[in-house]
Amino acid sequence: MTKVTMDKIVNLCKTRGLIYPGSEIYGGFANTWDFGPVGVELKNNVKRAWWKRFVQEDPNTYGVDASILMNPKTWEASGHVASFGDPKMDCKKCKQRFRADTLIENHSKGKVSAEAMTNEELTAYINENHISCPHCGGFDWTPIRKFNPMFTTSRGTLEEGADVVYLRPETCQGEYVNFLNVQRTARAKVPFAIAQIGKSFRNEITPGNFLFRTIEFEQMELQMFCKADSSMNIYDDYKSRALQFVKDVGLQADHLRFHDHDKLAHYAKAACDIQYLFPIGWQELNGIHHRGDWDLSRHGEFSGKSMLYLDPYTNEKYIPNVIEYSIGADRLTLALLCEAYDEETLENGETRVVMHFNPAIAPYKVAILPLQKNLSDKAKEVFALLSKEFMCDYDEAGSIGKRYRRQDEIGTPFCVTIDFDTLEDDTVTIRDRDSMKQERIKIANLVSYVEKKVKFN
Ligand code: ATP
Repeated sequence: MTKVTMDKIVNLCKTRGLIYPGSEIYGGFANTWDFGPVGVELKNNVKRAWWKRFVQEDPNTYGVDASILMNPKTWEASGHVASFGDPKMDCKKCKQRFRADTLIENHSKGKVSAEAMTNEELTAYINENHISCPHCGGFDWTPIRKFNPMFTTSRGTLEEGADVVYLRPETCQGEYVNFLNVQRTARAKVPFAIAQIGKSFRNEITPGNFLFRTIEFEQMELQMFCKADSSMNIYDDYKSRALQFVKDVGLQADHLRFHDHDKLAHYAKAACDIQYLFPIGWQELNGIHHRGDWDLSRHGEFSGKSMLYLDPYTNEKYIPNVIEYSIGADRLTLALLCEAYDEETLENGETRVVMHFNPAIAPYKVAILPLQKNLSDKAKEVFALLSKEFMCDYDEAGSIGKRYRRQDEIGTPFCVTIDFDTLEDDTVTIRDRDSMKQERIKIANLVSYVEKKVKFN
């Protein structure tokens, strides 16, 4: 079996136009990545599949696209401003930064809960137990400082005294502040969900591991508003729907597992992650959280607007509970890249790298390859036909073998070859990425042939 390493994935992504280091010509910018021509298609397909499954096919879910910059009071209500910071300390030797409470919890293998410790207690514990730097092994810590994970910017001119505003660290607040708007305008009845795909920003200090942890990333998430007595069933339902989705999009069942949280936020009733077996080990892929009525209650309190829902059937008034389901588009894209990567030894002894993406999320669906350059007019006709329906690549440079390999490496499920027979009988050869088998079909049948195989269901 192919051993997948993060280095192999990063390298393939860079050389094949999927993902480049951010601001590379300036030496890069830590934990930022730019999606190239192939990568942007892959991530868009991941987002489309999620939206189709959770918004388009669900009559009780409504999509929004809320502003990244929100009234700063939002972040007071959410608790992000008050809990401005986790206790962080730097290793003076290797300059890595760590959360003091996490250091203690990891050192004690989860036996000690450091969440409620004061800075003095954290420092005393670290010194008494001689907890050294997990990165370099040194024991030379700076004092603990509070660290704000939110990026700030400002609004207004400096002369006016600019106001601080925050780049949202999570998209869900855009749904909470629009709960009343959506409920009224969509005439939505509880239980209903509001969904969104959008950018979030976090001043992450732990090493990134490629797309796994970046300072700017996209979240695909929904907030389901429901009545307390049905909320646990809805929570369980989202756990299975979330798992089914990641399997359907291409992750193998034995690379996935649930991880229920033992320690919950004070308002939460249940929380669970789905973890994926990344090359760096089992790590969180998405979260499903039962948040009680905390979010709407807080926004009611801070905005002065009533968040009470009047049940049209029972005439009861209550603040709905929230079930949150949130998955990173970039983190899922990374999981799909790791899952798809394969190095195969062919019958002639050569190896090929092939990305076995689910055809529905593959960046390009079809590559159109004229066998020789003087067939390019006919090949461009075929490209014009297919590109109306699917994202296609066109390549006429180099040997056909090399062109197939290039398409295998970006996971294109079908290669269509135009040869001299095509000019005679309007047929082409279509090659399957995984089996490498070829068949001859009529140009007129190409669209329906591909369509069936690249649909996300
Ligand atoms: P983690 O424990 O990995 O920091 P989290 O519990 O803070 O994640 P949530 O706030 O629940 O994550 O965000 C939901 C999802 O958003 C995560 O499951 C993950 O897929 C994605 N995500 C969160 N932070 C990042 C990040 N810095 N870079 C990329 N994706 C992220």
